[in-house]
Amino acid sequence: MRIARYTEGDDPVYGLVDADGKKIAEVTGDPLYQRIELTGRTTTVDEVRLLAPVIPRSKIIGIGRNYADHAAEMGNDVPEEPMMFLVPNTAVVGPDDPVVIPTALTSEVHYEGELAVIIGRMCKDVEPEEAKKVIFGYTIANDVSARDLQRGDGQWARAKGMDTFCPLGPWIETDLDPQDVSIVTRLDGEVAQDGHSSDMVHGVAALISHASKSFTLLPGDVILTGTPAGVGLVDPGQRVEIDIDAIGTLANPFVASE
Ligand code: MG
Repeated sequence: MRIARYTEGDDPVYGLVDADGKKIAEVTGDPLYQRIELTGRTTTVDEVRLLAPVIPRSKIIGIGRNYADHAAEMGNDVPEEPMMFLVPNTAVVGPDDPVVIPTALTSEVHYEGELAVIIGRMCKDVEPEEAKKVIFGYTIANDVSARDLQRGDGQWARAKGMDTFCPLGPWIETDLDPQDVSIVTRLDGEVAQDGHSSDMVHGVAALISHASKSFTLLPGDVILTGTPAGVGLVDPGQRVEIDIDAIGTLANPFVASE
């Protein structure tokens, strides 16, 4: 099932997207927290503005260096345990929303195409074998990263957490195998990253188990599962598209702040 959050000009609503990614059937309520029912109203993806499919009420947990080829390209070793960082929910934007580069603060912004996991129920100390039960679904993330701040600050709050630095979308796919998807990132149409989630150092079940030992996970929490090799600079005026075959495409233009 594919669940989109969107607006036709008024308040955001949710809908079920068909397999072709073209038609949307509106539902009542928020599927993360409520039972949903079809309203009978239908529209098309082209006629609405898609929004980030989830705005976490609590937290986004990022995972660093979770693909060996990406760790190597940055000159880092693969950490023995998943390396976690937090991103504030104010960083989230949706499909086609601009990522605003604060040019007074950074001159080295990178894209990072990633599979994102959305948690569906409150949980703590989840065993890897039980992890599937707490997953609501999956979407695509761009873990936008200001490398100069990442190096200079010594931790990653600004580098990865600034406003607009966490595009999510285009919708949530509830049924896929998270260790069997291709992740392809294009910069202005040119393929820059071409990875596969089977290459994660720590798979999704291990990430959920690890994170839930430190943090209570709540419905709507998002886990960014790391990026494969091929990260690189993105300048104002460029466009980044991330394809995950089983989900769809997340595309965002990058612009400079005023
Ligand atoms: Mg990342």
